[in-house]
Amino acid sequence: MEWALYFAERTETMPPAWTRRLEEELLADQIARCYERAPFYRRKLAEGGVRPEQILSVEDLRHIPFTTKEELRASQEAEPPLGDFACAETVDVVRVHLTSGTTGKPLVLGYTPADLRTSARIGARAFWAAGARPDDSLLHCLNYSFYTGGLVDHDSLEETGATMIPVGLGQSARLLELWGDLRPTAIFSTLTYPLYLAEVAQEHGLDPRALGLRKLIVAGEPGGQLAGTRKRMEELWAATMTDTYGLSDVWGTFAAECEERNGLHFCGQDGVLVELIDPESGEPVGIEPGATGELVFTHVAREASPVLRFRSRDLAEILGVECPCGRTGFRFRVAGRTDDMFRVRGVNVFPSSLEGLLRERGLDRFAVVLERFPVEPPVEILVEGVDGQEEELSAAVKAHLGFTCAIRAATLPRTETKAKRLYRVYEGEERPA
Ligand SMILES: [Zn+2]
Repeated sequence: MEWALYFAERTETMPPAWTRRLEEELLADQIARCYERAPFYRRKLAEGGVRPEQILSVEDLRHIPFTTKEELRASQEAEPPLGDFACAETVDVVRVHLTSGTTGKPLVLGYTPADLRTSARIGARAFWAAGARPDDSLLHCLNYSFYTGGLVDHDSLEETGATMIPVGLGQSARLLELWGDLRPTAIFSTLTYPLYLAEVAQEHGLDPRALGLRKLIVAGEPGGQLAGTRKRMEELWAATMTDTYGLSDVWGTFAAECEERNGLHFCGQDGVLVELIDPESGEPVGIEPGATGELVFTHVAREASPVLRFRSRDLAEILGVECPCGRTGFRFRVAGRTDDMFRVRGVNVFPSSLEGLLRERGLDRFAVVLERFPVEPPVEILVEGVDGQEEELSAAVKAHLGFTCAIRAATLPRTETKAKRLYRVYEGEERPA
């Protein structure tokens, strides 16, 4: 069946200058709401020396100091559950979700009915770009407990018209038993899960390629756009893979690759405004092809738990602003989280940058173990199934990534969720093997 190219053509294809105008109009209302209702943001504006009516553009917005996760957490500790940055009354909040960050205590974020509608609309644009269609039977294989990846992304996927099969985690064997009855055509999961599911299928004597799954839509891990990773997953399932991006502090999923698969299109046009900054200096960086920086998010249509200039800790590279698909949302790639980055003698390394080299060699499971801080070479890297390739691989790491490592074969934990790639033993983490 022939489907429309876009979920919401007008929003997704309007010239960037119009998008900017739309966002700035919405921004004025958002700032007014935050100022009237949230002591947290009244303090922020006072710190920046601005009145709410002075914030009319992205440039004006820069007068407001950044918001960090630590500040939001402190606000919620002082005033549980939603903190003094919340802008809706308890009676108007119909759902809360926890943020799913890897470090520290999660935030409790509220949604009003309007927030849920906004989220579903934005998410549907992203998932449509990623390939979800009404004639798909779509397995949702993220954790449904607490986090936005569960119900929020479910709502967004359902909004595309796809037939949703709410699987969650821990159901792989049962899912394979029921496969013939359900006939799924697509899956939404972490990047790691389809690999796990393929192994379980093989243990049950099933060939993943013969199961009819044609679309792998993945989320939550930085390797989803790496050529080596993509090739490996696509061959494993005889399917196409598209990556998506979201941040539970902001919305569910609000960016996704289109069929060109050349970067994640920003799809959050009428829900969140994006700035790029230098993570060290905090200075703005223009959203232009080739630019890199930390993504900073400001809601423009959030009622219950808005963020203004929220530092995501995600480092992005802007790949372009135009695309043959016709979408005008800028395209980007996430290099990794600043939390996951480590430095070896002046070289910044993300575990995800190792991933491409390993997947090209058919190696899926690895972990970087940091014993001491500051990190000194050789960096210990545990790789499952590497036997015999250790020297060749460490030479490739040196050549491509610029640091010396010691590769060791090890059996690493199997997981249905995100693969943990970095172990900071010097901070008290236990070695994986
Ligand atoms: Zn595109």
